[in-house]
Amino acid sequence: MTSTTKRLKKAARIILIGAPGVGKGTQTERLLARFPQLAAISSGDLLRDNVRRKTPLGIQAETLMQAGNLVPDAVMLDLISTELSTKGWITPSQPGEAASPSTKPSTAVSFILDGFPRTATQATSLDQILPINFAVHLLTPPAVIISRITKRWIHAPSGRVYNTDFNPPKVFGKDDITGEPLTQREDDSIQTWKERLNKFEESSRTLLDHYNNKGCLWRVEGNSSDEISPKIYAEIERRFS
Ligand code: AMP
Repeated sequence: MTSTTKRLKKAARIILIGAPGVGKGTQTERLLARFPQLAAISSGDLLRDNVRRKTPLGIQAETLMQAGNLVPDAVMLDLISTELSTKGWITPSQPGEAASPSTKPSTAVSFILDGFPRTATQATSLDQILPINFAVHLLTPPAVIISRITKRWIHAPSGRVYNTDFNPPKVFGKDDITGEPLTQREDDSIQTWKERLNKFEESSRTLLDHYNNKGCLWRVEGNSSDEISPKIYAEIERRFS
């Protein structure tokens, strides 16, 4: 990947939508490096931070997250709008007051939201406080994602992860540090992934429709993150530079 950085002339308010394993995290990292004006907020990270600090919100969210279920929209909106206010990206509404069209967004900020909005209800509420102007739908064929998962080997006691293509263990099937055997719960991980994919497809349909109706949905396809990144760079430069 090139290390060139680019300046944005217009505010880019971006979300990435894609199946689990499609590489949203990788693209986010690369976009932050390519466009230094971008900042990122990850709803999953914010939730995990609340869980760690045992806040009332964290306690409520923990069980839902462990079961792989979505945290209620109202809770998510509260969490995200607090974060946007803290960052100074929106003028905070009065305590207890719902975000309203009078909430003043900063038109200058450019950002990527990772993991939020996940539902059309969240998207509609976000529109009222800080509207997204570029929704990127990342597409990789499921068979390609599955083949990536099967190349993943794990040292279960430490959580160290290897990949036979680009991060192989020094000795096949053995952990680099302890020499203990690596495991690959192939059926399990593929089954889990398929379940997450089904959930994603169900919940993302209305989200994709929402941004399609607003005219800001853009699809990008590729078999790997390396294939997808240059296409996203070019489109962001075309729209915002
Ligand atoms: P992530 O790190 O984005 O995969 O999020 C981890 C978990 O946090 C998800 O499985 C959900 O339980 C919860 N979560 C994150 N973002 C949202 C959201 N926008 N709406 C509802 N739940 C969310």
